[in-house]
Amino acid sequence: MGIKDIKCSFNTINIPRLYLIRIKKGDKMNKETIINLLPNLKIIEKQTCGIGTIFALHRVAKIEENEILYNQFLKVSEEYLEETILKLKKKNYKFISLDELEVTIKSGSKEKFAVFTFDDGYKDNYTTAYPIFKKYNIPFTIYITNDFLNKKAVLWWYIIEDIIKNNEIVVTSKMEKFSCRTKKEKENTFVILRNNIFTFGGKDLAKKIKNYLPNYKFSFSEKCDELCMDWEELKVLANDPLVTIGAHTVSHPAMNTLTLEEMEKEVLDGKKELEEKLKISIDHFAYPYGTTRQVNEREFNFLKNNDFKTSTTTRANNIRELNIDSSEQLPRILLKENFSLERNMFLIPFLRRYIKV
Ligand SMILES: [Zn+2]
Repeated sequence: MGIKDIKCSFNTINIPRLYLIRIKKGDKMNKETIINLLPNLKIIEKQTCGIGTIFALHRVAKIEENEILYNQFLKVSEEYLEETILKLKKKNYKFISLDELEVTIKSGSKEKFAVFTFDDGYKDNYTTAYPIFKKYNIPFTIYITNDFLNKKAVLWWYIIEDIIKNNEIVVTSKMEKFSCRTKKEKENTFVILRNNIFTFGGKDLAKKIKNYLPNYKFSFSEKCDELCMDWEELKVLANDPLVTIGAHTVSHPAMNTLTLEEMEKEVLDGKKELEEKLKISIDHFAYPYGTTRQVNEREFNFLKNNDFKTSTTTRANNIRELNIDSSEQLPRILLKENFSLERNMFLIPFLRRYIKV
């Protein structure tokens, strides 16, 4: 297969010539041109689909106008989820649980599989997603961050969204002033505040954010009541054979910032509390954030040696046979509402081989 270099306005990329047959001579070669043309090529689906897919989601809730994009990307609508299920059915995907993954891969079945997983423990997993999976009798997994359930999570990304939406100017304790009048200004302010909050580190985060934004009234615990599942709701889910509960650390740290001792506490204390409260075995784990920035060999080795059947990342790829020998680092496909299922499942993993998208 010949390789053709394309000078794009955004980057220089190498894409096998085969995929470019539909690009007409003289077409402007930019990212959108390529992305818009590629989904039509069935060959990409065939080459990228592997033997199945583990999907990563966070929330199922109504997509609202004027939402900060960073937060909007955490959810898909009920309609999108149902549409996804129906599309996968049409493509003859079989819906399985994480417990069935190893057997399914080893069976060598030609039937492709889909696994749905949710991270963190948002309330709408219970109120909105659960009835949809019940309706179609489809298994799914929820990876729990214990602080969500114990109402200790610092959901700063929703707090700063509220502040930005309700104020025309946001002023911090460092006397920074950010205009939040237009949609663009709101998005920009969110990114700046987010980047600043990232530098605070995990310890005493709630206190540091309160000190940083002293002019605004907000309550982290009220935000948890609004958005996080409670133990009673989780117990209902844990008692349903359709639902697998997995661990996702106690407080959702970037694991590469932890000492081994801290990592042990985050992973094993989280698992232990879930097992004690739910009276079930917790056999599956998802790395918080889960990209190459936060999770690598050290974290993989730790999980491999600590009694979990599978651990999932957020590295965008489908599952191949070879993944069964590395069940401590399974890739997942993040579902995004503004992308088609095909773009999420096939195009993004495909393009990631060649360009940053
Ligand atoms: Zn998470």
